[in-house]
Amino acid sequence: ELDAVWAERWLRESARVIAEHREELIDLDRAIGDGDHGENMDRGFRAIVAKLDEETPDSVAAALKLAAMMLMSKVGGAAGPLYGTAYLRASTAVSGADALDGSAVAAMLTAGRDGIVARGKAESGDKTMVDAWTPAAEAAQDAGDGVAALSAAADAAEAGAQATKPLVARKGRASYLGERSAGHLDPGAVSSAYILRAAVTAAT
Ligand code: ADP
Ligand code: MG
Ligand code: MG
Repeated sequence: ELDAVWAERWLRESARVIAEHREELIDLDRAIGDGDHGENMDRGFRAIVAKLDEETPDSVAAALKLAAMMLMSKVGGAAGPLYGTAYLRASTAVSGADALDGSAVAAMLTAGRDGIVARGKAESGDKTMVDAWTPAAEAAQDAGDGVAALSAAADAAEAGAQATKPLVARKGRASYLGERSAGHLDPGAVSSAYILRAAVTAAT
């Protein structure tokens, strides 16, 4: 059941996979950015876990809001406010729900994606985390039950992240490199795919 217990497990599993892939995310960001994405995300998710050790969210919305607050306050750079906005909008989209069905998962992911776009103004194909989130939110529509929607979203996010490799960045630090940004995965799209996969792991 995609309830508050699942949401807490999702955040803890996200923290685990981000820590596991910290160096990889740093290397990806070193290639086309300033090399801090793994460190930024690990700091933010450690703060989320520390908060969860103090208090237990009583709903999915409360868990997502807790994540938003920690990411906005602990993660600098581009990714903190972008992910923070995503979690905050996602929280609002599922407020009042005890457990998420397929359409609630789709609404949560669409709201998260819309938050990232509202904040960062990136379009699909700009080689950003939007390239993971947009296909994920679309795949979650009509996927069936909640877990099927999460699973479809995670698959789509992974494909979307991989598809950033040949792209030329048009937003964020990587855009300063112009054509030289091609040939590398976007770090934020990769971290997004890990986080969306963690949602499936937490549910199964
Ligand atoms: P910074 O670039 O400030 O060092 P991070 O390295 O933590 O921040 O995050 C970089 C990631 O942020 C990029 O890989 C990209 O996915 C994402 N990003 C940057 N700018 C934007 C934007 N305008 N819209 C969406 N995502 C963005
Ligand atoms: Mg960076
Ligand atoms: Mg930075």
